[in-house]
Amino acid sequence: MLDQIKIVLVNTTNSGNIGAAARAMKNMGITQLVLVDPIAVIDGDAIVRASGASEILDSCIIVSSLDEAVADCGLVIGTSARGRHIPWPLCSPRECGAKARQAVANNNSVALVFGRESRGLTNEELHKCNAHVHIPTNPDFSSLNIAAAVQVMCYEMRMSALESESAEAGESAEAGEGCANKWGVEWDYELAPHGDLERFFDHLKDSLVDIGFLDPNTPKQLMTRLRRMFQRTGLDTMEVSMMRGILAAVQRKAKVANDIDKNGKNEG
Ligand code: SAH
Repeated sequence: MLDQIKIVLVNTTNSGNIGAAARAMKNMGITQLVLVDPIAVIDGDAIVRASGASEILDSCIIVSSLDEAVADCGLVIGTSARGRHIPWPLCSPRECGAKARQAVANNNSVALVFGRESRGLTNEELHKCNAHVHIPTNPDFSSLNIAAAVQVMCYEMRMSALESESAEAGESAEAGEGCANKWGVEWDYELAPHGDLERFFDHLKDSLVDIGFLDPNTPKQLMTRLRRMFQRTGLDTMEVSMMRGILAAVQRKAKVANDIDKNGKNEG
């Protein structure tokens, strides 16, 4: 399970924090680190703070956008110390471990996303996630150092992986139930990877514009709420491809109707 989980750090400014995050990851057996457009460079401070986990720094991948970092992931979890205006499905670190285990059991990769030291993740970045995790800290002092947050989340991933191993070894009859898909049966298709979902959301937006339901100049929160609805369900690859087919058909009809409208107006 742990080899299917990646830790994604967005715009990290302090190189020591990157090193400390790498150490936290290696302690818990997670090795894939992705840096999204980091401000810090991997320097001596990072290596000192990695304290023996510098191979994670050596093999880390640097990308320019969050979309790129999580494109292949079926489950994307954003971490945040703060609540937001439009609430997103929220889970505890422990529930997140169970979700990650289910996702990996169904052949999906998982991303855990961490924000900037100064101001966390933007709303737009959080809206790319299937769910948010809030580590239940002291409400009067809720923001953890980013490497400490990575530590807590990697610990929960490890605990979940250990449970799954002991269930497989038959040590606990009940624990095996945790491996089943959340729908209670083995699923027939994998969760759609994030990149496919982003293309679906673009297509949905274009179609809604084509049929005159969405005004691109005053979009309000429509796309955000639709994103939330679809990401909450956990669309599989077949469902995304059906939705794309439906949208293509809607667009064809809209084009015919728009053409008739235009010709009608021209004639008039
Ligand atoms: N000042 C920022 C917090 C930045 S802490 C803010 O107000 O959002 C850096 C990162 O550590 C956060 O973006 C988040 O990914 C993680 N983090 C810190 N505290 C957390 C908490 N209590 N729960 C979940 N993630 C947390």
